[in-house]
Amino acid sequence: MTTKKAAGKRRSPLEPARLAAILAELRRLYPDVVCALQHKNAWELTVATILSAQCTDVRVNLVTPALFKAFPTPKAMMLASLPELEELVRTTGFFRNKAKNIQGAARVVVEEFGGKVPATMEELLRLPGVARKTANVVSGSWFGKPLGVVVDTHVLRLSRRLGLTKETTPEKVERDLMKILPQERWIQFSHELIHHGRAVCVARKPRCGECTLEPLCEAKDKTWSSH
Ligand code: SF4
Repeated sequence: MTTKKAAGKRRSPLEPARLAAILAELRRLYPDVVCALQHKNAWELTVATILSAQCTDVRVNLVTPALFKAFPTPKAMMLASLPELEELVRTTGFFRNKAKNIQGAARVVVEEFGGKVPATMEELLRLPGVARKTANVVSGSWFGKPLGVVVDTHVLRLSRRLGLTKETTPEKVERDLMKILPQERWIQFSHELIHHGRAVCVARKPRCGECTLEPLCEAKDKTWSSH
């Protein structure tokens, strides 16, 4: 019988069986996880994701109800006064830039896409403030289309710790993950890593003693190891 300890030592980081074991454990730990940003439609999710840069989802969820009450549609947001928008998003940080971006995104949605958030990567990237991460959140969590893998700070850190990539930039990490993960796991995989990154594999002092992925993990900064 193979012990977990022996299995952890023998496996190379990208061995299919090891990857399958990681994916199975993440699914077991976080079944049916969804995006933590509250939203009722694609537009609200786009705005919330733009606001979530350098900010917690909890903070964004405190801000968006009043924002969408004041400006419920892309057209209303396009016509809003910029200082009023800035005030509403102030506590999410970088508020001048974010207010400018959400108003710019509203304008593009209204003027180029008939008031509806588009569903392709190429079109989503035309919205100010929307880079691949936001486009992947919207396409994955709203449209259910796995166009790419969301790589935020948690996904980047955990993918490196689990040996799924050696890259350090979100774009390159995403490229690696798209190569090794089955496409039907792209959407949920990010949600699962984000949850695990918040609950257990935190940035400083990961809680390796509580982590059920530990037998499969060779991270250099583990705080406890069984092998
Ligand atoms: S064992 Fe530690 S470093 Fe590895 S995934 Fe778990 S918490 Fe993160």
